[in-house]
Amino acid sequence: MDTINWSELSFGYMKTDYNVRSYYRDGKWSDPEIESSEMISLHMAATCLHYGQEAFEGLKAFRGKDGKVRIFRMRDNALRLQSSSRGIMMAEVPVELFEEMVLTAVKKNMRFVPPYESGASLYIRPLLIGTSAQVGVKPSKEYMFLIFVTPVGPYFKEGFQPTPMVIMREYDRAAPLGTGTYKVGGNYAASLVSGEKAHEMGYSAVIYLDAKEKKYIDECGPANFFGVKNNTYITPESTSILPSITNKSLMQLAEDMGMKVERRRVPEEELATFEEAGACGTAAVISPILRIDDISENKSYYYCKDGKAGPISEKLYHKLRAIQYGDEPDVHGWVTVVE
Ligand SMILES: *Cc1c(COP(=O)(O)O)cnc(C)c1O
Repeated sequence: MDTINWSELSFGYMKTDYNVRSYYRDGKWSDPEIESSEMISLHMAATCLHYGQEAFEGLKAFRGKDGKVRIFRMRDNALRLQSSSRGIMMAEVPVELFEEMVLTAVKKNMRFVPPYESGASLYIRPLLIGTSAQVGVKPSKEYMFLIFVTPVGPYFKEGFQPTPMVIMREYDRAAPLGTGTYKVGGNYAASLVSGEKAHEMGYSAVIYLDAKEKKYIDECGPANFFGVKNNTYITPESTSILPSITNKSLMQLAEDMGMKVERRRVPEEELATFEEAGACGTAAVISPILRIDDISENKSYYYCKDGKAGPISEKLYHKLRAIQYGDEPDVHGWVTVVE
């Protein structure tokens, strides 16, 4: 690598210098090891390969105008990985170890943190997998926890762009008492067919309804859903959605802006009443929704009538990005400055 064209980065994988690993054996996590290889050596009967003992996280580091690098809400990601671990019976990574390894992964790859002006950032991907050989269905005794990083471009290359999304009633992502609240690969495998179909039809994402009653909004594939009306930020409460840290942050910012915040079930009919709607997650912060088509019911819900994101989505988006890049004070203690 000599020079990276920061403005042409996509949300893809680029090799960086190092990754960081820790191994769980005999009930203990090893000291973190710094690796330059992108490969892992794995037993062919490892539980992650056969029985889906795999969970991951996604967070970002941002370079500010002052040149400092800031990591957003890493403690929340550490706690969520612990929750995912309990959900599929994996060893829990201690919060301190998680934070130490995130900091090491960023520091060892400092030259890959994009410059402030580019609008790009460093994506951090922690991964936890069951590694011991098992043929019977049982949790692994040994685990590997690994963190790699890769620079990613700004999600919106042509500015903050609303896109159409779709409700596909013939597919579910997660069951009400299943694994939807955990960030595990299995949920993503379950969403690939519908996701690809949606893309082929020109939609940016699938909006899932609750799998049991098909009445309430769950989430948008890899992002949470929110709607805005009457100065209120409304986001679904459900036992099958992933607790998004971006959504939690937006709820706080909406409250700070004097809005009401409601976390409750959102029936599909309510889509017709929202002034604005969006999907939220680490990748894009907010993806404003242009239109939602419920194709088998022949219904459509329209937002952004002028093709532009609504004023509240726009304001929340800029506010959160400003905190992440250090342009505005971090009053909620969300940011860790890499020293
Ligand atoms: C990761 C993820 C999100 C977004 O969470 P953030 O913490 O905001 O990045 C939303 N839904 C699902 C299913 C996810 O896996």
